[in-house]
Amino acid sequence: MIVSVASGKGGTGKTLVAISLALSLENEMQFLDCDVEEPNAHIFLKPVIDRQQIVSIPTPQVNEGKCTFCGKCAEVCAFNAIAVMPKKVLVFPELCHGCGACSYLCPEDAISEVGKEIGILEVGRANHIEFIHGKLNVGEMMAPPVIREVKGHIDPWKTVIIDVPPGTSCPVVESVRGSDFCLLVTEPTPFGLNDLALAVEVIRKLGIPCGVVINRGGVGYNKLEEYCNTEGLPILLRIPLDTEIARLYSRGIPLVEGMPQWQPAFQQLFEDIQHIVSAEQVGRAK
Ligand code: SF4
Ligand code: SF4
Repeated sequence: MIVSVASGKGGTGKTLVAISLALSLENEMQFLDCDVEEPNAHIFLKPVIDRQQIVSIPTPQVNEGKCTFCGKCAEVCAFNAIAVMPKKVLVFPELCHGCGACSYLCPEDAISEVGKEIGILEVGRANHIEFIHGKLNVGEMMAPPVIREVKGHIDPWKTVIIDVPPGTSCPVVESVRGSDFCLLVTEPTPFGLNDLALAVEVIRKLGIPCGVVINRGGVGYNKLEEYCNTEGLPILLRIPLDTEIARLYSRGIPLVEGMPQWQPAFQQLFEDIQHIVSAEQVGRAK
């Protein structure tokens, strides 16, 4: 089963929840940190990294000796990464998504592809957890290819927990796609509610069942729970606003290690997710 842990915005405690969930389960599992622009799960899980792999994307290289400057490559590029002048073809590698359309459609076979390094993938282990994360190079914008490389290591026979980047843009969709369940971590504030609503819209469009974890709860803002009730979103866990939890997080100590009394709550959270996923699968089969 693949469970992704997402949030409409950063700083809601998404990584805290993802890591606590992973550490509370005892079976052999995988943890994927797909927040490739700012991966930080390794700080808490402290995996021993035993493998590294460079991630690159194919970018076009134009042989102007063969080129007729017909402009087809620029026409087909959806990202304005290639421009054709009267006697020159300009390639903007930082905009290129490596889709290969320009080289495929060039009538003169004037475009070849060269690999451009955009990040790195690291694989390691932290006790029962196989750990995989990606790191996008500073200044690079193409997070999805690095995320795809990370997800390429998914073992479908294992429990997989994915730490999703914050927000609701392409890297989030790329990370969550294919999950059996998405856990949305939010906080009871107007900003939290606004960003949760955006995230729910995206996850529902992907057809993935979801539920909510309220972090830093108990501050008297009831609109978040009202929204969840109206939308039929199950609230699966409430974590209170607590200085000890914040202190542990700031020191890189996972919640369930610093406060083991939280472990049963995360085990129950996983059981609840399993029940929801099973019920969804039965519903789809009917
Ligand atoms: S499609 Fe090929 S031939 Fe036409 S401008 Fe681009 S590189 Fe040149
Ligand atoms: S590989 Fe795709 S994104 Fe890159 S320049 Fe060619 S068409 Fe554009």
